Amino acid sequence: FQQLALVLGDQLNARHSWWQEVIPNRLVVMVEAAEEASYVRHHRQKVLAFFAAMRNFAQALADKGHTVLYLTLDNPQNPGSITTTLSALVEQLEPHLVTLQEPDEYRLQQALETWQNEHSAVAMKWCSSEHFMTERTVLVDWFGERKSYLMESFYRRMRQQTGYLMDTANKPLGGKWNFDKANRNALPQDASIPAPLLFANDVTELDQMLNARGIETLGEVNPKQLLWPTTRRQSRELLNHFLTTCLPNFGLYQDALTDRGWSLFHSRISFALNSKMLSPAEVVERAIDYWQAHQDEIDLAQIEGFVRQIIGWREFIRAIYWQQMPAYAELNFFDHNRPLPEFYWTGKTHMKCLRESIEQSLEYAYAHHIQRLMVTGNFALLSGINPDALDAWYLGIYIDAIEWVEMPNTRGMSQYADGGLLATKPYVSSGNYIDKMSDYCGSCHYDVKQKTGAKACPFNSLYWHFIDRHRDKLAGNHRMSLILKQWEKRDPSQRQALLNQAEQYLEQINTL
Ligand code: FAD
Ligand code: SF4
Repeated sequence: FQQLALVLGDQLNARHSWWQEVIPNRLVVMVEAAEEASYVRHHRQKVLAFFAAMRNFAQALADKGHTVLYLTLDNPQNPGSITTTLSALVEQLEPHLVTLQEPDEYRLQQALETWQNEHSAVAMKWCSSEHFMTERTVLVDWFGERKSYLMESFYRRMRQQTGYLMDTANKPLGGKWNFDKANRNALPQDASIPAPLLFANDVTELDQMLNARGIETLGEVNPKQLLWPTTRRQSRELLNHFLTTCLPNFGLYQDALTDRGWSLFHSRISFALNSKMLSPAEVVERAIDYWQAHQDEIDLAQIEGFVRQIIGWREFIRAIYWQQMPAYAELNFFDHNRPLPEFYWTGKTHMKCLRESIEQSLEYAYAHHIQRLMVTGNFALLSGINPDALDAWYLGIYIDAIEWVEMPNTRGMSQYADGGLLATKPYVSSGNYIDKMSDYCGSCHYDVKQKTGAKACPFNSLYWHFIDRHRDKLAGNHRMSLILKQWEKRDPSQRQALLNQAEQYLEQINTL
């Protein structure tokens, strides 16, 4: 073979230009690397879904006539990491060229660059993964070097650039860029939630292989019925299911929390997107086409809310990652250093909101955005959990967790550890917000209305403890000034009672 073409586990893009023609002297290389399966403790469903999707992708390439070398985890020729595999193959096959698609993770970018420097005799060609709609440098290209970036400004530019949901005069459809205010409803008691489309992929053999190789994972799985899509066809089915059954209510209940269903009206396409089985442009265009054909059932606010997540948040988050790494991984604005409470791994807590969010994460490798942000993330920020520990948790537990998207969401959006680079204020709330948006509090061990006492909802006192302990750092943020004033105006004895309550809860955090 004159050419080796490396395909990483999250580069399953069947529409990539590499696959337009069969190149006779090219060997496509894919490897189930033990290193990738264990650099953090991943949810078992995540490891299984990635390996199953990789296998299906390799088979689809082979069916089209491409020559593929696929090294399974248990293949004795598999040296366990991507770069050692490349080294062994280069030595054995002496290719003239190694081609690869830009990795999305800084860690892999570094490893592959180092490999390139150590193998300067072999030509290496870096190609785009042809997945994202923007370049890694888009933030600086558009807005220059700044201390903070606004997603909304980025999103508007994306709308103008792509023409999505714009009228003929290049103005936003409906006269507004953003219908977020219409998208903040709790779920009514009588609302019916669609049953999620679940696949039943049999991954028993893969599961046994993980056992045999001693890959440590977390969470639960039924290996006879892996529910996540592992082919492009299934990914498209999931998208179709979303459009036909969830899109009409997507925006409306995007921020709702409930114990009546685990994915509500969310699309659950993040794994298909992040593994690149679906492309963001394809998803948005199909969604807009569907909305255009069904405007009697789906209003503009729903489709706008969905498009914003994909061309706004997703692309913005990726741009932040590439602009900020590697320093971003170390940021800890509030100097938070408390270990992650044990119940994040088990769900064993009396706090119903956390129990629901964590138990379903262990069961499905999934929680929707508001569970991640306003329940597990909010509690961690209020309690002062170390962002490194949280990064490892979010990176491990979710089916869609890849560092480029997990880290800015966790460190930046959820923990404000970047001091406000991407969020205009810390996402913190007392129990009141969770009560308003959920049906969790009614059946919780704690009383959301109480601020002190044995039954007081921990979010209430922890919220004020957070405000008090960081008042100096928060003082410069005009969006926090009202809250700070409210705190200062309180009677000193009330303040002290809240702080004492929070201290007591923090001391017994593992038993809450
Ligand atoms: P939907 O609600 O149906 O949204 C549609 C799509 O929009 C998603 O599939 C996703 O691709 C995109 N999207 C929405 N919000 C975001 C966002 N903030 N950042 C990037 N894309 C977004 N998303 C990941 O893909 N991987 C992660 O590891 C990840 N970690 C997160 C950690 C924290 C602490 C928080 C607060 C959010 C995280 N998110 C992450 C963002 C978001 O929660 C998930 O993308 C979403 O819950 C996936 O479910 P869904 O496909 O049903 O999304
Ligand atoms: Fe969560 Fe507090 Fe509500 Fe319980 S009362 S579910 S701890 S917000």
